[in-house]
Parts: sequence; C-alpha cells; structure tokens
Amino acid sequence: MNASDQIKKFLLQDKSARVIATSIEQAWQDAITHQTNSEPVLQLLGELVAAATLLAANLKFDGALLLQMQGQGAVKLLVVECRHDMTIRATVKLRREPQIHETGLQALLNADQQGRFVVILNPPKDQPTRQPYQGVVPLRGDTVAEVLEDYMGQSEQLLTRIWLSARPDRVAGLLLQRMPYDGGQDTVDEAQAAQSWQTAEAICETISSEELVSISTDTLLHRLFWESPVINLEETPIAWHCGCDRSRVAGMLRSLGVDEVNSIVKEQGQVTVTCEFCGTPYVFDPIDATALFESGLPDSRPTLH
Ligand SMILES: [Zn+2]
Repeated sequence: MNASDQIKKFLLQDKSARVIATSIEQAWQDAITHQTNSEPVLQLLGELVAAATLLAANLKFDGALLLQMQGQGAVKLLVVECRHDMTIRATVKLRREPQIHETGLQALLNADQQGRFVVILNPPKDQPTRQPYQGVVPLRGDTVAEVLEDYMGQSEQLLTRIWLSARPDRVAGLLLQRMPYDGGQDTVDEAQAAQSWQTAEAICETISSEELVSISTDTLLHRLFWESPVINLEETPIAWHCGCDRSRVAGMLRSLGVDEVNSIVKEQGQVTVTCEFCGTPYVFDPIDATALFESGLPDSRPTLH
C-alpha cells in the first residue's frame, strides 16, 4: 500500500462545510494494469475513480458503490467500484479505439446524447436480500466532475462541489459540501455559513487541474486554506482489490445455461472467462463444465487468487 493513497476528511473552521480530499497513486496504477492505455480514456476513468472514493467516503454504507458511465461513442462503458473499506477496482469497455480528435467526456461517451451515468449502491455480500439502490441520469456536462455535480444536485439536499484530476500515474480529487444547518450553539448562523461557503468555493476554484494532481493533499489543503486552517478529521487508506473468484464465475456460467456452456466447450474445448477488472483467467475444462450443472452445489475448487 502506498502512503499517498489516502482519503482525508476536514471541516472548515466554522464547521459550515466539509472538505474531502483524495489522492491515489499505487491503487490507481494497479487498477489500470489490465485496461486500455488510451490516455484520454484513462483520464475519464481516473477522474471517475477519484469521484467514487469521494462519494464513498461521504456516505454511511457498508456495501459497494459503483459508478458507471455508459456511452455510444468509442467508449462503451466505464465502471468503478469503491467498497466501504475504500478498496477500488475499475474497468473500461471500448467499442473501438478512440480517434486522435476524440478527447473529453462528450466526444468519447456521448456523441449521440444517449449516454447515461449510473450510480449503484450494492448491499454487502452477506445481506443478499437487501435491495441495491440505483440512480440513473443523462451525461450532462463536459467533465466527470460536472456530471457528478449534476447528479448530486438532483439527489443530495446539500450543496456540493467537486474537482477531479487524473494522470496515468496519479489521480486526485476534492469535494466541498455544505453541512446541514442545525441551529445549535456550535454552528455559525445561516448568513455567515452562506458567506463562508462562497469564500471556500471561490478558494477551491483557484486550484488548477495540473496542481490538484501534482501536489500532496496536505500541501493542497495548506495552499487553499492557509488563512483559516481546516480542522483535520479522519484519514483512510485506499487500496486496489478485485473481489472476483471462481465460484462467482461458476454462477455466471450456470446462469448462461447448460446448452450455451456446452456449445462453447464443443467449439473451444473449454470455457475461459477472464475477469475484466484484473485479467485473471478462470478455465473450466469439459469435466468442470459438466460439473457446473450436475450437483447444483457451489463450486468448491479453490480460487486462483
Ligand atoms: Zn478480478
């Protein structure tokens, strides 16, 4: 685990807004080992990874947050998963290689305005009866941050601003959110809170994308809020992890049905399913494939990793 892979939470000194900052190097590099090397696509994916960690850190939940961007351009699908323990994984499905002039979210994903941004909250694996939450909005905005702000404007009660930046070696992001006004002695009055919000938003607007991705979280926060230092809350490490295993692949093959699996075995001599997140191949030879549909019991062979 890399020491710089962390999400940190802060409060403005008058407690009128929270600030969450994310910085990911090793986990991001691990996440894209088996993905495309197209830089414009990786920039979108990286910003979505940073966004997923910011949103996950801002939620009280115990399952997995999935952010998906579905498009009709060169990019078919971007998927990022961030679990409640701040482990991440990500994958890209391309329809074709992007052309040289195709950069940016609208060109790569939303050329025909049919793109979708999907937010899913999956319950923990040990609570399969709990329903997942799913929210879907059109891809409005020129950047991943604008799409996120548009989504949060519709789903969140609290004013939220997001800044994201990605390079092939590092991704970073910043979230600023108004705290609910509770009228207590400990909080400033509403007019002061509104003024404080405007100031903090204007300060955060001064950070360039290049700066955001180049400097450490502590340097960033000091540079932004040196006049009125923020209050440090908690910090949580971020790591890459793929939760794929052989029994889930077996379940997926069972859902394809015996005829489909048999026809693949007939054609290819075996069934190979490669995890789209981590590239692990799961091979089912003819005996394994037959066994899938015999006992109805979960596959008991050890997983490959
Ligand atoms: Zn995997």
